[in-house]
Amino acid sequence: MQMQKIGTVEGTKAVISKYPFAFQKKFGQNFLIDPRVLDKIIDSANITKEDCVIEIGPGIGSVTQQLIEHAGKVISIEIDDQLIPILTEQFGDCDNFRLIHKDVLKVDLQKLIQEESPNRKIKVVANLPYYITTPIIMTLLENQLNIESITVMVQKEVADRLASKPGSKQYGAITVSVNYYSDTYLVANVPRNCFMPRPNVDSAVIQLRLHDEPPVKVGNVKQLFKIIKAAFLLRRKTLLNTLAAHGELGLEKDKLKELLDESGIGAQTRGETLSIEDFARLSDYIDAHR
Ligand code: SAM
Repeated sequence: MQMQKIGTVEGTKAVISKYPFAFQKKFGQNFLIDPRVLDKIIDSANITKEDCVIEIGPGIGSVTQQLIEHAGKVISIEIDDQLIPILTEQFGDCDNFRLIHKDVLKVDLQKLIQEESPNRKIKVVANLPYYITTPIIMTLLENQLNIESITVMVQKEVADRLASKPGSKQYGAITVSVNYYSDTYLVANVPRNCFMPRPNVDSAVIQLRLHDEPPVKVGNVKQLFKIIKAAFLLRRKTLLNTLAAHGELGLEKDKLKELLDESGIGAQTRGETLSIEDFARLSDYIDAHR
């Protein structure tokens, strides 16, 4: 007998009325109840039996149910105690499902992947808890986890920021950092009424496709990220002023001015107009001439 779809109004109500469950606002719990959005997520992630999918925050299993059907292996990581018996009862018998009861930011993902699925391509699919969207995305990008793509529901505002171009209002340190690791695509805008309970913001599904090689070669990657962070510290200030205010680069203001001007970037430029290529050029120039 086929299981009822969880990611619908009726399916979600049926599951939560069966268990002693109360929504936890602190965990960003807004469950997806629109099957069309679910289909878009699964289709765009192009999940096959060759894939191992890591899902962050399975909730009562709306997305999980679809992932188990399509993927070779599904590893779902959930923090909330209340959800563990629900997920175990529903999916515990599925051979390709593994549930980790933990805060995702405390999981050693490298070890987990190595133990659970060393030979499959890794894809991340999630309706993310919005209060920790940025740390989750940066952890996934920075840790060389052999991830092919990250398809996630985020706040619309975050999606706009990640897909923004240099010079726009939304462009920020997170945009440039994400650009170093991946290309960002907007999969779908998702209105707030697709969730239970209804959140106060609209959402969007985005896909980050990770580069095999970074788009820029840079000598000192740590310094590159320091510069990116510093460049957006004081918005609407010149690059010279914001880099000097940050101080972590360990350069006097006069020397910084000289390096910015000589590198061709320009001391009076603003950080929000620079692309990842510009930042890489500046970082290498500083390295070579400091
Ligand atoms: N995937 C489900 C869906 O689409 O209906 C639930 C998505 S809900 C937006 C976010 C989920 O992430 C919740 O189940 C919540 O308990 C879980 N969560 C929140 N913080 C977490 C953390 N630090 N680590 C792991 N899971 C977390």
